[in-house]
Amino acid sequence: MLVDNTRKASYKILLSLATMLGAIVWSGVLQGSSFKMAGSRGERFGLLDSTGKSVPINFNSGYRSFVDSVGATLTDSSRSLLAQEILKNDSFFFRNWNTQYVHIPEKSPISASDSVELYLIKESEQFFFNYWGVFFWGYGMRWGRMHRGLDLGLNIGDSVYSSFNGIVRYAQFNSGGYGNCVVIRHFNGIETLYGHLDKLLCEPGDLVLAGELIGLGGTTGRSTGPHLHFETRYRGNSFNPELIIDKNSGNLFSHTYKLSKNEITDPVSASSGSSSSSRYHVVKSGETLSGIARKYGTTVSKLQRLNNISNPNKLRIGQRIKVR
Ligand SMILES: [Zn+2]
Repeated sequence: MLVDNTRKASYKILLSLATMLGAIVWSGVLQGSSFKMAGSRGERFGLLDSTGKSVPINFNSGYRSFVDSVGATLTDSSRSLLAQEILKNDSFFFRNWNTQYVHIPEKSPISASDSVELYLIKESEQFFFNYWGVFFWGYGMRWGRMHRGLDLGLNIGDSVYSSFNGIVRYAQFNSGGYGNCVVIRHFNGIETLYGHLDKLLCEPGDLVLAGELIGLGGTTGRSTGPHLHFETRYRGNSFNPELIIDKNSGNLFSHTYKLSKNEITDPVSASSGSSSSSRYHVVKSGETLSGIARKYGTTVSKLQRLNNISNPNKLRIGQRIKVR
């Protein structure tokens, strides 16, 4: 009995030590300094700049600072070497790394406390906001389902840039509605998502800096016209980009942001909720009811019943059709 209690006590101490250690590592991660690499290893590693000169690795003030200071000078292959090294070594931050799934949400990502301090930009890091002057939609409920980003009007072919420094996690056509879509994981702890692109100009594993070209804007996927669908996510869970970005100036409100638990939307519970609720489609030029039925995996007669449509050939552009 006595032994058992002692065991329990030491187990408890171990647990709280692990939690403390986790918190320290985590705050280190957000600063981009959770691992060190010996200088000799860096040289053997062979990072080169575009003139062919060797660039010694120096993580003394964290890899985040290092990437920011030399990232732009490196050759493409040196950049991906550096990205691989960061991914390999910083297992805590880059856990749940997946190039095939657009979302990899963690349940209760803010559980230790009720908020987490995000160091959005550090020192000389930059921020870039893609905005062409036309704002269509914000974050929140729309047509009975959650809209998790900002819809920013553009012309097909307009350049789309990365908002922060980071590594591309996902870049492919997404059949769930995003169309050609890029997700970048940033060193500040958040991911940004860029949907409906016409062309993808980056690949998973690419190290990108704020303001660097990642794709061209378009209207692929579930989209009613050319625009960029832009999301910000913390450990897979979306939050309103307007919490951190002043869209009128295109700047961040502040270099840091305290993200609280109630500001993130858990996509696990939200998406299971939306499966039972209605969904709508807005008719575009040239669309037919049978085409729309195919797109949503339903039938023409079901759509007719749901929407009280007697003549399936009489659709008008802009008409809202209940598809579920
Ligand atoms: Zn959108």
